[in-house]
Amino acid sequence: MVKKCCVIGAGLGGLSAAIEIALLGIEVDLFEQNETAGGKAGSIFIDGFRFDTGPSLLTMPFVLESIFNDSGKNINNYLTIKPLESHCAYFFPDGTEIIAFSDLQKFAAEIINNTSDNKINLITYLNYCRDIYELTADLFLFNDFHDCNTFKKYSSFRTLLNIRKIDSMRTMHKANSSFFKDPKTIQLFDRYATYNGSNPYLAPATLNIIPHVEYNMGSYIVEQGIYAVSESLAKLAGQVGVNIYTNKRVNSILHNDGKVSGILVNNEKINYDFVVSNADASVTYAQLLNDIKTKNAKRYAKLEPSSSAMVFYWGMDYISSLGIHNIIFSEDYQKEFHEIFNKSSCPNDPTVYIYISSKFKSDDALPGTENWFVMINAPYDKNQDWEHETTKSRDRIINKINRTLNISIESKIRGEQILTPPDIERKTSSHKGSLYGISSNSRTAAFLRQSNKSKQYKGLYFCGGSVHPGGGIPLVLLSGKLAARAIAKDLSRT
Ligand SMILES: Cc1cc2nc3c(=O)[nH]c(=O)nc-3n(C[C@H](O)[C@H](O)[C@H](O)COP(=O)(O)OP(=O)(O)OC[C@H]3O[C@@H](n4cnc5c(N)ncnc54)[C@H](O)[C@@H]3O)c2cc1C
Repeated sequence: MVKKCCVIGAGLGGLSAAIEIALLGIEVDLFEQNETAGGKAGSIFIDGFRFDTGPSLLTMPFVLESIFNDSGKNINNYLTIKPLESHCAYFFPDGTEIIAFSDLQKFAAEIINNTSDNKINLITYLNYCRDIYELTADLFLFNDFHDCNTFKKYSSFRTLLNIRKIDSMRTMHKANSSFFKDPKTIQLFDRYATYNGSNPYLAPATLNIIPHVEYNMGSYIVEQGIYAVSESLAKLAGQVGVNIYTNKRVNSILHNDGKVSGILVNNEKINYDFVVSNADASVTYAQLLNDIKTKNAKRYAKLEPSSSAMVFYWGMDYISSLGIHNIIFSEDYQKEFHEIFNKSSCPNDPTVYIYISSKFKSDDALPGTENWFVMINAPYDKNQDWEHETTKSRDRIINKINRTLNISIESKIRGEQILTPPDIERKTSSHKGSLYGISSNSRTAAFLRQSNKSKQYKGLYFCGGSVHPGGGIPLVLLSGKLAARAIAKDLSRT
């Protein structure tokens, strides 16, 4: 008899899982509480402007491509993915501007001309980042290390033999300070801790695999906008036979004696052989399994969520000189992270990220205008006064942009919508509005993430940014593949 699987949530991780599980010959039903698939990777329209709601930068596109290949399809028939010529334009409080070109020679020239560091510092650093990636990727990204078979592989053995080289004993900031002497270069590379919602002054230097992914492997735009990734995966899911049900919130996962038997949706019980949750792991335990007592549920509830974000979607009545991705740095980076993680408030002097998709996708804005996605790092929701935090942050952001770019933007904002941490939680059921599940502010965090297969509930699997291998587009896609792989393995045993 054909086995049946239910996937809860059509975020990128859920879509990836649903496709890969359908390819195993299993009948898959995918339930999404919202009207459309995509979760955090959504799209909104404001007064004639279109915005990607969450992720804006694509890395490791080969992971996305592999899902199309697995399905016997050509990704180029769905999406146009192009490498960026410059990853980001960085603006510093002292007026320095550094363009992080993807061409290493050009980027090195920027570092030499604008900082006290040199090309050798940069190349040595990026080689070090590459070494960490090569030692860790197989064990920490492409496999589930909670599965003991992973450790039987030669690559895992090699990682363990070279454990010192993965640099987990120092913080990212400490490691970066050992390669560079200029505070600007250090700040530029410390920033990569925020790619998984962490604090560079606490997160282990192993996370320096992230600069490798961006600088040595490349960053990309999707010409149709990032939301097209969600749309194309939803289309692909339909093509491989996944039944997608939108506007359907799963109320609970049914289980008995440690075995999952199905779900409750709209007061209807539906039986399944396998259930995959793309909902946040802590939400899965507390709300869907109604489990606040077992060891794993208690442990997970105690872990610190990653940071969140506050986003201002602004339709701008002018054409700026900015690039696609822009960062305006704060004066005191350490203080900024202290405010976010220790004081749980939005920073007084925030680092401001501006993403303008209309720079490459002109129909995202009207002629003579631009769509600005303006984001700051924010604490996860702890019942702060978000109205106050929003007003404060909006003023600070506007002042900072005006000061840095020597313009006056307030009168140019012609359409606006704001996303706060509670909005993120409301829209995607993300625990306390965190962007990337749990934070990686400790050496052990990577090991504490929920495995892709439940050890406690037979028939239950996990995918998405809150579980192994972590948040961000490529990793959540990998989590879906790993959940499918775990099901395939269990299936082969029956
Ligand atoms: C503002 C912002 C900026 C970001 N920037 C980047 C970036 O530049 N690059 C990058 O790689 N990543 C970025 N990210 C992170 C990235 O978006 C996420 O890691 C990724 O999209 C999360 O995918 P996911 O599979 O965990 O699912 P999510 O997007 O969290 O989606 C989960 C889905 O499950 C659904 N769901 C939950 N519970 C239920 C239920 N009970 N019943 C039915 N449906 C349910 C939700 O509605 C949602 O659609 C950003 C995120 C945000 C919010």
